[in-house]
This record gives sequence, structure tokens and C-alpha cells, in this order.
Amino acid sequence: MGKTLVIIAILTVVVMAGGIIAGALADSKYYFACGNCGAKFQPKWTNAILVYHVFDEHLLKCPHCNTTNMCTRKGQKI
Ligand SMILES: [Zn+2]
Repeated sequence: MGKTLVIIAILTVVVMAGGIIAGALADSKYYFACGNCGAKFQPKWTNAILVYHVFDEHLLKCPHCNTTNMCTRKGQKI
């Protein structure tokens, strides 16, 4: 592999990581409603990295009942 390919590979990883972190930071600005106990909470962005989600349903750990379940994304933080 030439040096150019290595640089392209590194840049690709950096851009992908940046996108993942940007997505997690964006999700951490939202309130989520726990699917188990119904409590509303804001996840830390570190907990929102690469979570499984389908549309507005995110697999997150609820800080109130300590269970990991599908939480619905609600309104954005004001
Ligand atoms: Zn809960």
C-alpha cells in the first residue's frame, strides 16, 4: 500500500469518527422518554455513540430505572 492510500484510509477513519461523534452530540441534545418507566432524560453524548436506533426509537440505558430499552426521542433541549 502506498503512502497516499494510507493517508486516504486515515482520513476516512477520522471523517467517520467525526460523523459518529457529531451524531452522538446531536442526540445528546434531545430528551428521551424511557420505554420502561416513562421517565424523561437526556443521555450523555458518550452513551449515545453508535446506539441501535430505528427512526426516533433509540436503545438507551435509562438513568431512572437502570434498564436498557427502546427510548423515544422527544423534543430538543431549549
Ligand atoms: Zn426508565
